[in-house]
Parts: sequence; structure tokens; C-alpha cells
Amino acid sequence: ESVTVQELAEKMKKSPADIIKRLMMLGVLATINQEIDADTAGIVAAEYGLEVEVKVELDAEALLTQEAEDDPADLAPRPCVVTVMGHVDHGKTSLLDAIRQTNVTATEAGGITQHIGAYQIEHNNKKITFLDTPGHEAFTAMRARGAQVTDIAILVVAADDGVMPQTVEAINHARAAGVPIIVAINKMDKPDANPDRVKQQLTEYGLVAEEWGGDTVMVPVSAKTRQGIEDLLEMILLVAEMADLKANPKRAGRGTVIEAELDKGRGPVATVLVQNGTLTVGDNVVAGTAWGRVRAMMDYRGRRVKKAVPSMPVEVLGFSEVPQAGDMFYVVPDEKTARSIAEKRANRKREEEFKAAMPRVSLDDLFKQIKEGQVKELRAIIKADVQGSVEALKQSLERLSTDEVKVNIIHGGVGAITETDIMLASASNAIIIGFNVRPDVNARGVAEREKVDVRLYRVIYDAIEDVKAAMSGLLEPEY
Ligand code: GDP
Repeated sequence: ESVTVQELAEKMKKSPADIIKRLMMLGVLATINQEIDADTAGIVAAEYGLEVEVKVELDAEALLTQEAEDDPADLAPRPCVVTVMGHVDHGKTSLLDAIRQTNVTATEAGGITQHIGAYQIEHNNKKITFLDTPGHEAFTAMRARGAQVTDIAILVVAADDGVMPQTVEAINHARAAGVPIIVAINKMDKPDANPDRVKQQLTEYGLVAEEWGGDTVMVPVSAKTRQGIEDLLEMILLVAEMADLKANPKRAGRGTVIEAELDKGRGPVATVLVQNGTLTVGDNVVAGTAWGRVRAMMDYRGRRVKKAVPSMPVEVLGFSEVPQAGDMFYVVPDEKTARSIAEKRANRKREEEFKAAMPRVSLDDLFKQIKEGQVKELRAIIKADVQGSVEALKQSLERLSTDEVKVNIIHGGVGAITETDIMLASASNAIIIGFNVRPDVNARGVAEREKVDVRLYRVIYDAIEDVKAAMSGLLEPEY
């Protein structure tokens, strides 16, 4: 059973471009007339809040006629989910620890807090969820798998060190995901702390402090003395409030696997973040090719809980195998459904591994999509041997933008093409242009796996000509 993208769009009253975008986030490159199977259609529908993700056995038609959106009356505010990013050694881990400790109440002091991949705190009676694996690498790796869990990114910049290469990467990764950034200017206790210099440097990347007339919240903090931590929490709540985050706790639970491992005593253990609905002990769940019945759940303090509501991270026991971080999980009506979805996926995965798939993001594909009006933006990442070349390429390529198609350089940097570049490209449907640089060893493997188009040039003119050709429809496919 299958349905074309066009039909699916009509049934769901969404534009085909929306559906194609959703499919891309799931790692499926489809054109408007392409057929997609009922399982995939169901997952896309579920992305829009349809209660259909699960009835693989039903035909797509029946799946899609069901109620599309949550009843607004059922929506309730949910806590925001925060990721901490920034350059190495600028204090991401220390800041996460400081926030966690600031919130340990007297009765809990001395109690063990577990690292399960995320934790929740309460400030002014409002909850905030922090993802415990700092850095944009984890963030973008999850995004490349279709998972968007972060509402706010905290960009940590050491006041004594200033903006560094990974600071810039983090900014670009957060931007590519459309996640608002709050800057924490850390290490304010240090004698050579210079917050104004940090603010000055950040303006070069489009982040202008509120007190300088911009709209980026910047909070001076010290993870060491805990100065400014309360202010930071305050600001997080403020930014969250503006985002008006809501979810429907009344529906079946769904969300994303944050971390997972095989525990010797307990079997597969997954930390999941509930993003909508409520997850309850006894629920049947499926995540990627793993399925099972929730046997027990623990919060980040290791306390057993019966229910997990939106934005709550919990450890889940009961999966048949270890799911992957970034897998989405869904509650399904019964064990049979859970197992059949998981098995179907496992089979498909095996088939796909045999097939040499088309590049997911290539200049040629992008051109086709541009021509069909499905893509309005050609996204690229530029890596070059010197900053001057990055800038020259960036400017020349952006100048190719037309009314129909915008060339958007989502990230530019000096040095070899890394795994993180590939993951950003994969998550953002971008190509990579390398000038006088090559992919490093890890990146090469990942590019193949993620099907990212990496184009290497030694002459700037050639790069510009290729992109120009793709945009005007003259590019000869490369074989
Ligand atoms: P990460 O790599 O970004 O996670 O950075 P860490 O949290 O591991 O911190 C790197 C180093 O900076 C450690 O030695 C910390 O003790 C130190 N550090 C972190 N925050 C502060 C701070 O606010 N003040 C001072 N003086 N040192 C800090």
C-alpha cells in the first residue's frame, strides 16, 4: 500500500513542499509524484499530530482521515528543552553541573543524581529540561536523524578566551536548526574576563546584545562561583515564554530517544524525551527497529515514575533491543502493532543496506527540485584552506542568488571537511564545497553513509560555475 506525496499532501491539507521537507527530515528524498509506503506516510502524518503513526496494517487513506491536530483545549504549556553548546573548555559541562547543583534542595543534597542524558530543574515554580550531552555535534547528529528536540541553545563563551572556531560552528548549527540562542558569557570570576570583547566579537556573527540594541540575550555567569546562574535561568524562562511551548498530555506519548545502552543487569535501557502526549508504564512502544512494553521508568534522580509528561526525560526499560539516539518513539495500541512496525522497518533497513541509494543531497538533485519548484534555497557549507578563500567563495556564491532561488551558505570555515560538517549538511539538506581541502578520514565514511554531496575544487571559478550551472539547469550529472 502506498500513496504519492501529492495525494498525501492533499489528504492532510498541507503543501507538497511541507511534506517533502518532513520526509527529508526523516531521511527520505522524495519528489512530488513519488510513492511512499503507508508506514512512512503514517510517520509523516504523526509529525503533524495525527494519531495514525501506528496502524501500518491500515491503508494510508484510513490513516489520514483521522483527526489531524490536537484539540487546542487539550494543549497545555510544557517546559522548554535546552542544549548547551560552545567551544571546548569554555565551561559547558561545568555550567550544566552548576545549574544542576543550584537546584538540589536541602532534602536531596547528598542524594545521587544519575547521568541519564538529560535532567530537569525547577526555577520560580517552572521546569526547564537540560540535555546533558553538551556540544553541537550531538545536537546535529540527532537532527540528521530527523529529531528536533531543542527549544533553546545556550552558547557558552569564556569571557577570558572569546569567540573561538567551535563557537562559530555552534552558532551556525543552532541557526541551521532555527533554534533561538542565549549567550552565557562564562568564567566571569577570572581576572582577565572581558565580556565586552565577547559581545563585540559576537556582533560579527550577527548576535548583538540587547543592551547594544540587538535582540540576543547575553548573561554574564561563572560556573565556578555560580554568579549569574539565577539570571541565566530567568532569561531561559523568558525566552521560553515567548516561544509559547505547548503539548497535549492527553494523547499517546511520543518523543525522541536521547541515549541508549545495553545494561548488563537491566537489558536495553533508553533515555527518552517525551515531546507530546504521556508515556505510561505498560505502554507498547516502538523506536526505530526496537519495540517493547514499558516495564519501568526512572526519572533523572533514579526514582521510579509511572508517567512521563511532555518535556520530561525518563529512562525506559523494556525495549527488545537498544534503540539509537535520535530515533523517534511512538506509543502504539498493542504489542502486535509494535512488533510488526519494528520488523517491517528492520526488513526495509536490510534491503536499503543492499541497495546503493541515490545521493540524498546532491547538486543534481537540488537542481531537479529547484526546477520543480520544491526547493527555493540552495544550501551549502564551504570549507577552505584559508579564511580569504572562504569569504571569496561565500560572496561569489551568494551573489548568484536569484528571485527564484537563494544561495544560502549556512556554514563556512577553515580546515579539512569533518564529520560534523557532514552531519550539518545532512541535517540541513546542504552540499559541501571544499576548496583546497579534503574530507578527513572519518568524514569520508560518514559522507558516504549520509549520502552528502562533497565537491572539491582547486579553482574558485570552477566552483562558482558548477553552482551557477546547477541553478540554471545546465549541469551535467556526474557519474
Ligand atoms: P567544556 O569542555 O566546555 O565542557 O568545559 P568544562 O566545563 O570541562 O570546563 C573547562 C575548564 O574550565 C575546567 O577546568 C573548569 O574547571 C574551568 N571552568 C569552567 N567554568 C569556569 C568558571 O566559571 N570559572 C573558572 N575560573 N573556571 C571555569
